[in-house]
Amino acid sequence: MTKKLTILGSTGSIGVSTLEIVAAHRDRFQVVALTAGNNLDLLCRQVALFQPRIVSVLTDDLAQKLERMLEGPKPEIHYGVEGMIAAATAAETEMVVAAIVGAAGLVPTVAAIRAGKDIALANKETLVTAGRLVVELVKQHGVELYPVDSEHSAVFQSLEGQSRKDVKRIILTASGGPFLNRPLEELAHVSVADALNHPNWSMGQKITIDSATMMNKGLEVIEARWLFDVPAEQIAVNIHPQSIIHSMVEYADGCVMAQLGVPDMKAPIAYALTYPERVATGVKPLDLTALSGLTFHQPDYRRFPALQLAYRALAAGESMPAVMNAANEVAVEAFLKGKIGFTEISSYIEKTMDAHEPRAFTTIEDVLSVDLWARAKGREVMGLS
Ligand code: NAD
Ligand code: MG
Repeated sequence: MTKKLTILGSTGSIGVSTLEIVAAHRDRFQVVALTAGNNLDLLCRQVALFQPRIVSVLTDDLAQKLERMLEGPKPEIHYGVEGMIAAATAAETEMVVAAIVGAAGLVPTVAAIRAGKDIALANKETLVTAGRLVVELVKQHGVELYPVDSEHSAVFQSLEGQSRKDVKRIILTASGGPFLNRPLEELAHVSVADALNHPNWSMGQKITIDSATMMNKGLEVIEARWLFDVPAEQIAVNIHPQSIIHSMVEYADGCVMAQLGVPDMKAPIAYALTYPERVATGVKPLDLTALSGLTFHQPDYRRFPALQLAYRALAAGESMPAVMNAANEVAVEAFLKGKIGFTEISSYIEKTMDAHEPRAFTTIEDVLSVDLWARAKGREVMGLS
């Protein structure tokens, strides 16, 4: 039996790796729908290779351009939020790989859950912005939510066969990114190119900057809180610069379960696609004898204030993580455009959070309106509105 897939964000780093796994296991998967932003060249190649029934791009203009570019039998071409929803809810799709970056992934992912699709979740912002609501929807619609994020895949694997009530702590590992050992006083002046130069992982731009500020780990703490139903006090972060242990779970008896491997997203992506089975991924085997030594230490909050902001957001109340996330998205964009400095990313997020009175969410629309408010407030505090 083939599993029928929709891939939201097929032209991104996770989307491309997902399609590499699909290409290596044609007997297992069939691609029903692909969505992309504006990379039409790559999308055209993907359409030729995987022949989806539906594709979707960002705008009407891009859709018309794509129509002209495609040769041979054409898929249905959609665009915008409605297009992403059409892809996410396509009748024959069984699993949706949520690999759009940012809060833009929330609406199509929620639509997929409501349509009864299982989710392979890379888009952590879905759980950061709307964690409780999304988890409730997953339960209500009886779908499965599998983590793609490497740390959460490691936790998921380390929880297999264990009794949840015996979990004492989740320990997320973090590489520390490119600025782990950079003198603190230099951080204000690091360049965009330096920040994009991640030591261990090759990823999209936004998550690469998030890794440099360690906001990525903050988002992952919130993601873990909702994926595994564990309170923030029981989620620890440890710096592990080699990125070999992808995360751990500590149990009541003192035993710690960990998952190890060469850092390559194809392993956690494949596990989400084929769970509980495992397939060949082409990931390099781990040669323990070649590792010079695995090291661990506590994160320094002066260096990485963004990580602390995430714990603060979780403690503050339901809407605060959504505010933090939106403020982060606009600040990262401003940093990438050279409008603000590296250390200003966290300080502007904090200022945006300071301006917000947290409240509970009732619907996904509440999340979207808080997200919009925080984007506007973030631009205002940065002086960019
Ligand atoms: P990316 O920037 O490489 O790709 C993002 C994809 O989403 C592209 O296809 C892009 O066209 C599309 N997209 C971007 N903005 C969009 C919008 N507004 N509307 C519709 N589509 C849009 O990002 P990525 O690195 O693949 O990350 C995707 C998600 O996976 C993020 O949430 C990230 O945090 C998470 N993640 C990524 C990695 C990784 O190794 N890259 C690891 C763990 C988690
Ligand atoms: Mg991760």
